[in-house]
Amino acid sequence: MNVVSHKQTVPLLEVEGLSVDYGLKGASWRAIENISFELQPGEAVALVGESGSGKTTTAMAVAGLLSPNAVVSGGEVRYRGKRLPIDDDAAMRPHRWKETSVVFQGAMNALNPVHRIIMQIAEPCMLHGMSRAEGMVRARELLELVGIPPDRGSAYPHQLSGGMRQRVMIAMALACRPSIVIGDEPTTALDVINQAQVLNLLVELRAKLNLALLLITHDLSVVAETCDRVLIMYAGRLVEDGTVAKIFTQPKHPYTRLLIQSIPDPAEGVRELRAIPGDPPTLSTRPSGCAFHPRCPSAMAICRAEIPLLSKDGKSRVACHLHGDRYEAEKAPVHV
Ligand code: SF4
Repeated sequence: MNVVSHKQTVPLLEVEGLSVDYGLKGASWRAIENISFELQPGEAVALVGESGSGKTTTAMAVAGLLSPNAVVSGGEVRYRGKRLPIDDDAAMRPHRWKETSVVFQGAMNALNPVHRIIMQIAEPCMLHGMSRAEGMVRARELLELVGIPPDRGSAYPHQLSGGMRQRVMIAMALACRPSIVIGDEPTTALDVINQAQVLNLLVELRAKLNLALLLITHDLSVVAETCDRVLIMYAGRLVEDGTVAKIFTQPKHPYTRLLIQSIPDPAEGVRELRAIPGDPPTLSTRPSGCAFHPRCPSAMAICRAEIPLLSKDGKSRVACHLHGDRYEAEKAPVHV
């Protein structure tokens, strides 16, 4: 695990009070609510949560890649202290690829099937001012960097294995030397062997290029191998933030505890898998108060009525009424 310097006064990335709504059939639904976190140079942070928790919306908002029916309804994102125009597609173009880039899941869908991979890697370089010849030279360097012989650059995506296609996606993401790479479940579509190889590649590249990683995943084993810090999301809110060591050994939020308990332990032998009872809420069925209360084994009366504050405990944060009395509140409660 890398040692990350926190001496800088201005973080590489600051997300402050970010809220995003989706418009659908004349109605508006809040997808994420008041999300705040920072990313330091070279740091790897995982965004973890079940489907619908808001992790992809958070990451796509940071990259300025929200869908057309999404509206940034609050907060802002800063890169090296400067506000990013995340809700303006044209204004975000100079920032994409150069400052923040994304490795999408499912490379077969993300790559263009009728273009050779070398051209697809060279394209972002050309969008950011390189000539075609310079772009092709850079694309060959990047293929080598991700472990693909440069002469395979003339292949089309369907001529490569799943693992190689995902390496191409990583090469594309690195084309303009960004400081932050967002991985949107980058290993989900891969078999176990390719998954391990792609993860090792990300870890290697992070160390070599001092990349900051924001990794979206629901796979806690990926988090343990790759990240320094974990942000746990539930129903559009950040519910816990801590180092990997803290989250795995002393989780505070009941949801985090149940997530950790659901990881099968091979040392315990064959037994029934532990799942979290109930289903996560949809955008239109979010419960009042703490959205986790219908599934929480520790729920109290206050949990149904009041949204818990995100409170600080050293470098960790947790949003749960079980901990609210003990820690100084960081922000005023948000009522929806
Ligand atoms: Fe459970 Fe209440 Fe904490 Fe929510 S606030 S996680 S319902 S104890």
